Amino acid sequence: MQARIIIDQKKIDEIINSCDVCNLAMIDENNMPYVVPMNFGYNDGCIYFHSDKSGKKIEILKKNPQVAVSFSTNHELYAQNPNVACSYSMSYKSVFAYGKVEFIEDYDSKIEAMNNLMKNYTDREFTYNRPSILNIKVFTVKVKSFTAKEFGRF
Ligand SMILES: Cc1cc2nc3c(=O)[nH]c(=O)nc-3n(C[C@H](O)[C@H](O)[C@H](O)COP(=O)(O)OP(=O)(O)OC[C@H]3O[C@@H](n4cnc5c(N)ncnc54)[C@H](O)[C@@H]3O)c2cc1C
Repeated sequence: MQARIIIDQKKIDEIINSCDVCNLAMIDENNMPYVVPMNFGYNDGCIYFHSDKSGKKIEILKKNPQVAVSFSTNHELYAQNPNVACSYSMSYKSVFAYGKVEFIEDYDSKIEAMNNLMKNYTDREFTYNRPSILNIKVFTVKVKSFTAKEFGRF
């Protein structure tokens, strides 16, 4: 079975919106890869993240904001013949997004980003604790390019 390339932005957005975790990949100062699973929000081509103020990821992103982000969903194991290992496959839909991290420092913009993030997990309206918001890093990736594929039985 061939993987199918997806180019329809609506379908790409649907895949991203059906995920609750993504993987954020970056390159450290020694040119080594570093990837972390992250919760996220997504709206209109922008991915939103929140994080502790310190740590390896933040130090890398301050020096090199170029990132790749992967999303995958609809995972389903299937087999042509359950007794034959080589006949097993996994259906999936996935998106890779490429762009540059921008840190959001302005308080109201941080709240807007956090609203986008929370929207991915619940439809509730929220209030925020100001010291907590001041104490976290919030950042966005304005996606420059997407690639997307689906594989398997849909
Ligand atoms: C489902 C899920 C959702 C998450 N959502 C978020 C989120 O929204 N925001 C957020 O900031 N973090 C989130 N995390 C945690 C995130 O993946 C990182 O562990 C965290 O951000 C710390 O990263 P850091 O680079 O600051 O690590 P540091 O604390 O600087 O880590 C030091 C070392 O520990 C190792 N390490 C760090 N984290 C992990 C890990 N999770 N597993 C194995 N080794 C690790 C690294 O190799 C690193 O060298 C999530 C994790 C999971 C599994």
